[in-house]
Amino acid sequence: MPLLARMLAAPLVIDVRPGAIAGLGALLSDRRIATQGRVAIAVGPGQGDALAAELTGTAAEVFRLDGGSYDGAVELGRRLRAGGFEVVAGIGGGKTIDVTKYAAHMAGIPMVSVPTSLAHDGIASPVSTLRHESGTGSYGVVLSPVAVVVDLDRVRGAPGQLSVAGVGDVVSNLSAVADWELAAADTGEPVDGLAAAMARSAAHALLHQPGPSDSDEFLTVLAEALILSGVAMAMAGSSRPSSGGDHEIMHAINELYPGTASHGELAGMGALFCTYLRDDAGQFAAISSCLRRHGLPRGPGQVGLSDGQFTAAVLRAPSTRPGRYTILERLALSPAEAAKKVEEYGRAIAG
Ligand SMILES: [Zn+2]
Repeated sequence: MPLLARMLAAPLVIDVRPGAIAGLGALLSDRRIATQGRVAIAVGPGQGDALAAELTGTAAEVFRLDGGSYDGAVELGRRLRAGGFEVVAGIGGGKTIDVTKYAAHMAGIPMVSVPTSLAHDGIASPVSTLRHESGTGSYGVVLSPVAVVVDLDRVRGAPGQLSVAGVGDVVSNLSAVADWELAAADTGEPVDGLAAAMARSAAHALLHQPGPSDSDEFLTVLAEALILSGVAMAMAGSSRPSSGGDHEIMHAINELYPGTASHGELAGMGALFCTYLRDDAGQFAAISSCLRRHGLPRGPGQVGLSDGQFTAAVLRAPSTRPGRYTILERLALSPAEAAKKVEEYGRAIAG
């Protein structure tokens, strides 16, 4: 009988709980991961540094990072390779995780992801978002992190909205998968049903988790949903399960108005707008109430953009991701139509 199945390169270890950081030392000295114990730790500014100091007893070399640039990732990758390290743990916020992930890829070694915030789904994905001379870009890596350690006590302490902004990134899966299905219907693009199921189920779990935002129960669902989103991308071999018109709008906002808001905040708002365009009233209400429950922005005004600025981003969005077919490509709105939709959208979220 033929064995019709597939292999998936997914993390070996997932550890999501209060105090999980205490198990990191043992994980890093796991001889399956580092046979000779040559371990590096990359830490970002803020919590990362303090955490590294707590990892006493771990004979690891510590590298301090100060940004999220492509050049910084390449430099760290060079130092990891030159030092003969077998594994690197990235401890810090989204930028630190992205830099360390790409550096590990450059050095050809596994990476352990230790996020100190739940701001986006990069914590377990095979993609790094890095800054370069003319903006930011997404860089694929061969392998997802070998382990993901989320200490709920640490992410609860993340500054501002960063601890839960990932809610927006997770709910954007619903819009992204809807776009994928649209592409299948209109262009014949194949949908990976298992990847779509994981991405969508992760989002549904979050939509139906009542909170509050700082409870262990909620943060566990959020962390696991972000991890499942990353695995869905690894399974699909692209960001398709977690990135559609929602992310195109985010990329356009980042190009036109850099520094407007975080990845997760903009992804959630983009997803709600795309769901409005799709005329899916049930899903619109569910996503809208989830974003509101966690204090995340839904309208352009909440991130400091005028309706006109947001309209410009909607019109620019398709050019940020050539070849990706979404509701935005399907509708191909004229400037006047886009302005009208944005105005109607403002009324829909106010109502
Ligand atoms: Zn995202």
